[in-house]
Amino acid sequence: MQLEEYQTKRNFEKTSEPRGQQHGSGKSRFVVQRHQASHLHYDFRLEMEGVLKSWAVPKGMPLEPGVKRLAVQVEDHPIEYIDFAGKIPGSEYGAGMVEIWDKGNFKLDRKAPDLLEITLRGERLSGGYALIHTGGKNWLVIKQKAKRK
Ligand code: MN
Repeated sequence: MQLEEYQTKRNFEKTSEPRGQQHGSGKSRFVVQRHQASHLHYDFRLEMEGVLKSWAVPKGMPLEPGVKRLAVQVEDHPIEYIDFAGKIPGSEYGAGMVEIWDKGNFKLDRKAPDLLEITLRGERLSGGYALIHTGGKNWLVIKQKAKRK
């Protein structure tokens, strides 16, 4: 069960985050949520395999080509989380304010065991991005240079 870790960490009587279930929507959406938890970070989520594959990006998504940012993979989140914004109460996991920083669609250009190449089409983020698995939960997210035609 891909959402078991997500559900185990949270008390859904206390948090307004969705409990969720695994299901495909047939879409390829992404979201970046600005999360003012004990440490500010940005949560980058891709709709894949019936869940949101998720990374916490401490310094935020790169906006300039060639810039690399650490992205720490976290537990899969339910698809419904793509619309979540609000305050996670003080005693709960991830307590703090969540705001939607960007959302849109993506195209999966390449998927290999330690590599994802995607093209994002959002309001703030657009173009090619690579996610490179460097070990454990650590990935690097890199904005790629625009391809010349
Ligand atoms: Mn977070």
